[in-house]
Parts: sequence; structure tokens; C-alpha cells
Amino acid sequence: VILSPRVSALIDGLTSLPGVGPKSAQRMALQLLERDREGGERLANALTAAMRDVRHCEECRNFCETAVCALCESDRRDRSQLCVVETPTDLLAIDAGAGYQGLYFILMGRLSPLDGIGPEDIGLDRLSERLASGEIRELILAINPTIEGEVTANYISDLAAEQNIKVTRIACGVPMGGELGYVDQGTLAHAFAQRA
Ligand SMILES: [Zn+2]
Repeated sequence: VILSPRVSALIDGLTSLPGVGPKSAQRMALQLLERDREGGERLANALTAAMRDVRHCEECRNFCETAVCALCESDRRDRSQLCVVETPTDLLAIDAGAGYQGLYFILMGRLSPLDGIGPEDIGLDRLSERLASGEIRELILAINPTIEGEVTANYISDLAAEQNIKVTRIACGVPMGGELGYVDQGTLAHAFAQRA
């Protein structure tokens, strides 16, 4: 089957989505063209705007289109607590269920020397600056208990120790190798309350 250039380009583009192979991409493309032009336009516009405007918050590294995100700007958050998470998904899980009112720092990954991911790739230079600002009294590590997560947590604990900042860790109840974003809210709230 020979597809027209635009149809092939669309299918090719859709394979950039996580978990989407050529077969699914083809199905999606044909479905949009045949049955949902409006949805397709909406998707195209949202993609264009997001790819053009979204960057990392200068404070927490979360995705946003302003220099500093709304959560970091909020005067309703406790600025003495900083919770370190791996992904925006983990932040959403904690913020939805753990009753936490402090600020966040999002690594967007974890240390992985084998893959060439070092401290600066996960923003630890920025984190050091925040720890040195004197504003933070408790650093809460909500990092997944994987091997790389452990290495990352230890590295960050050392950074906090240099500034004499108290470090706590949520761990109990979060399954080994599990992803925080998939832990139920009751378990997560408990893990958070029991941090030590
Ligand atoms: Zn922010």
C-alpha cells in the first residue's frame, strides 16, 4: 500500500507517542482522518502550542509556560518544606492525596551513570542553590525505591546534609520498584505521614 506523503508523515509523527508502534499509529491516523477531523485539529493545535511554549519552571522544574509555575508562586504553600519527586506524575499523586502543603522539586528522572545521566541532568545544581537559600527546613524525599532511586536519594541527602537541612524519606507502603504515581492515595498519604 502506498500512502500519500502527508498521511505517511502523520503516521510517522504518531509513532513518537510512547507505546505507539507503526500499526497503532496507522490506525490512529486513519481514524482521525476518517472520523474526527475536529479532534485532530484540536490535537494539532495543542501539540504546536505546548511544544512551542512549555518549558521548565525555574524553581521546581515542572512543566509550565511561565518562568515560575503557579504552585511555586502560590502564597498558600509552606515554603519551608521541599519535596523531591522524580516525575510530574509523582507530584500529582502526592498533591492529590497526601495533604502536603509545601513546595516541590521535580528531578525529571534519576541518576543513572550507565546511561550518562549525571547530577546536572536532573537539576541537582539548581536544587543545591535552593538548599543554600536558607528557606528550606525539611527536605522530603519521595523518590521511588529502585536501585537508581536509592543512589539519587543518597546523593541528595548528602547535599542537604552539607546545608544542615533535615532530610526525611517516604518509603513505607510504597512497594519496592513501584511507581509513586500508581500507588493508591490512602497508601501514599500513610507513607507521607510516616516519613522518617
Ligand atoms: Zn515551579
